[in-house]
Amino acid sequence: MNDEVLNQAPPLTGYNLFATDRVLREAVAREGAGWSCAALEEFGGKAGSAEAMEWGGQANEYPPVLQTHDRYGRRRDEVEFHPAWHNLMRLAVEHGIQSSPWAHARAGAHVARAALAMLASENEAGHVCPISMTYAAVPVLRQNAAIAEEWTPRVFSTVYDAAFRPVTEKRSALIGMAMTEKQGGSDVRANVTRAEPASEGAYALTGHKWFCSAPMSDAFLVLAQAPRGLSCFLLPRWMPDGKRNAFHLQRLKAKMGNRSNASSEVEFQGAWARLIGEEGRGIATIMEMVHHTRLDCVIGSAALMRRAVVEAFHHARHRHAFGRALIRQPLMRNVLADMALESAAATMLAMRLARAFDEGDRAFARLAVAVGKFWVSKRAAPLAAEALECLGGNGFVEQSMMPRLYREAPLNSIWEGSGNVMALDVLRAISKEPAALERVLAEIRLARDARIERLVAGIHQNAAESGARRVAESLALGLQASLMVRFGQRAFADAFCASRLEGDWGHTFGSLPEGCDIDAVMAAGEAELPEVTESAGT
Ligand SMILES: Cc1cc2nc3c(=O)[nH]c(=O)nc-3n(C[C@H](O)[C@H](O)[C@H](O)COP(=O)(O)OP(=O)(O)OC[C@H]3O[C@@H](n4cnc5c(N)ncnc54)[C@H](O)[C@@H]3O)c2cc1C
Repeated sequence: MNDEVLNQAPPLTGYNLFATDRVLREAVAREGAGWSCAALEEFGGKAGSAEAMEWGGQANEYPPVLQTHDRYGRRRDEVEFHPAWHNLMRLAVEHGIQSSPWAHARAGAHVARAALAMLASENEAGHVCPISMTYAAVPVLRQNAAIAEEWTPRVFSTVYDAAFRPVTEKRSALIGMAMTEKQGGSDVRANVTRAEPASEGAYALTGHKWFCSAPMSDAFLVLAQAPRGLSCFLLPRWMPDGKRNAFHLQRLKAKMGNRSNASSEVEFQGAWARLIGEEGRGIATIMEMVHHTRLDCVIGSAALMRRAVVEAFHHARHRHAFGRALIRQPLMRNVLADMALESAAATMLAMRLARAFDEGDRAFARLAVAVGKFWVSKRAAPLAAEALECLGGNGFVEQSMMPRLYREAPLNSIWEGSGNVMALDVLRAISKEPAALERVLAEIRLARDARIERLVAGIHQNAAESGARRVAESLALGLQASLMVRFGQRAFADAFCASRLEGDWGHTFGSLPEGCDIDAVMAAGEAELPEVTESAGT
């Protein structure tokens, strides 16, 4: 028997996720958060450490378990997690990813936080769901002064406290969101959960939510039908008298990906809740949260693509076939370079969008976030599949990171507004808020580039619903190309424009046209490849 292992890549673990990502470092500095680079480097080291990477694997291998009742038959409605989950959550909370821009407002704070969220997602996507919802909930909590006073100090705390106790007995709090019902997801107006006015300004909620992720959060923003229409409520897991709220977990979803995170079906049986915003204005109220979680969908997808590309480069560098390393095979170089372009464009756009939140640039963010959410989330799935294939059969094996990335990849495009819903939202923003389109087009045109001008000229601003995806795609490519031309390396910008804008491209990654400087794109990618110490055995 021969146990000698030849021609296999060493495990890719234990590297600094920030220090090895030039595109992200430059974007962070450019978009106003250069001051955060030391902290990001520190976090990138921790999140990319072999130990933390192991947590990511374990949290998915040992998914959460629902305990509906105790052994005596009393309701528990609790979810138990593997310690690795708590380790990841602690790391994220201690670095303030759930609230830092609100707790410590300063120029660039949303960009710095976006970069932290990206690094955390590169390690493990599931735990960033509760972190993201908590971050996004703050502007909604602030719409009710009494609720904000009670809840935000705990949301701002960087002490992770997973105890299932009334929030007044806890050192920190996490917030979830429950909008989706069986009969109506995107169409939230079809919600049937009822809210009856109860004593002292509170309401009793009765109904069912079909998806409620992170159900061990301390409170949830919930939509329900009140006497004056669909309204937004804060529903805590515990009532002010210290008793458990009537928030009953029915089951956990058996999900294709995002397995570390619990997503539940939940029933409210007269659950105690407080109104946020005006009765009847629930959608407008909760959209403030959705706007922020959509930003995080872009960040999460950029993170997933980055991780997938690094895995593919790493494998190709160490694996030899037909006489040379895969990374030296011309066709593999085209595939890798094409994916590196996609990943770079996603990262650049994610950080640019985050800056709009720092600057309170609502007109730009209104349209650009919808555009970015549609496009960047959509690109994750095909890229994950192609990156997986770069590892050949090894990529199909669970111990590699690739199946996890592949299963996770479609999710950001589904939640917080699925593809069509986002594309229709792009049309709505264009028709209802002309200033938003003006701002986005002005930004695109900053590049002063003929290729980009041709793209813009072709955008059908009054498209019918059936043409919405074309409009969203073009705006997204325009924003990405503009960033590439202004701030990217020349080879990246030219290859991006030739393939994505000028149409000199096939239907799969790896079909960049002749004339693209693939060597320059590859050199940039290879220069920052993580060095792992274990011998490759080649
Ligand atoms: C893992 C996971 C976790 C989740 N966690 C939460 C959570 O914590 N809280 C929560 O509230 N929700 C949660 N969701 C629900 C999620 O937000 C919804 O699934 C999503 O918004 C889509 O709604 P839906 O499933 O009802 O699909 P539908 O609304 O039925 O849409 C189905 C398809 O039709 C398309 N479509 C819809 N309307 C139109 C139209 N007018 N024209 C053309 N196409 C259209 C959509 O784009 C989609 O592709 C979660 C979902 C998943 C998968």
